[in-house]
Amino acid sequence: MLIVHHGLFWGGAQRLVGHRYERLRLLLERDVAVYASHLPLDRHPTLGNNALLARALGLEPTGEFARYESIAIGVRGEDTRPTAQIVDAARTFARQHGGDVHTSALPRGRVTRRWGICSGAGASAETLSEATALGIDTLIVGEGPHWTAVEAPELELVIIYAGHYATETLGVRALGEHVSQTFDIPWTFVDDPTGT
Ligand SMILES: [Zn+2]
Repeated sequence: MLIVHHGLFWGGAQRLVGHRYERLRLLLERDVAVYASHLPLDRHPTLGNNALLARALGLEPTGEFARYESIAIGVRGEDTRPTAQIVDAARTFARQHGGDVHTSALPRGRVTRRWGICSGAGASAETLSEATALGIDTLIVGEGPHWTAVEAPELELVIIYAGHYATETLGVRALGEHVSQTFDIPWTFVDDPTGT
């Protein structure tokens, strides 16, 4: 069985033909099951990408962030560290997963008071306006469109982009470990940033 984060369908089921079928052909031929957990694995309080990313950066979540329709999938909390220290922690984390960190403009001597995390494509019009409403000054995401980095200083926000892939490796690893311990079966993590 494969445990994956991104599912095959977004916005309704689609026929498995052409390249979609090719993606699954080997698995179907070899009778390998696929379990995909996307938003539930972003939001899970102990196995989820966002809670685990916070802890990997030395941050303790105390609330929810990144509402998607009616459900918050991210986390937020408070801190008193220089933002540059959180950037350094994010850089170390990203590099462990073959990526790197980019940030919006980072003023010298800046301190983080309130942070929010949304893994994957976490910088969007919705998360920027939610961050502003909540008084969040540091937003940690996987990636986002170019304009979010341009707009961030106008909102007195620093956005830390730690990589879509890197920020979404944590949940599947934690779930793999959980399934392994629960059912006493071996597991391994296939580190494959480009999907090859
Ligand atoms: Zn993603």
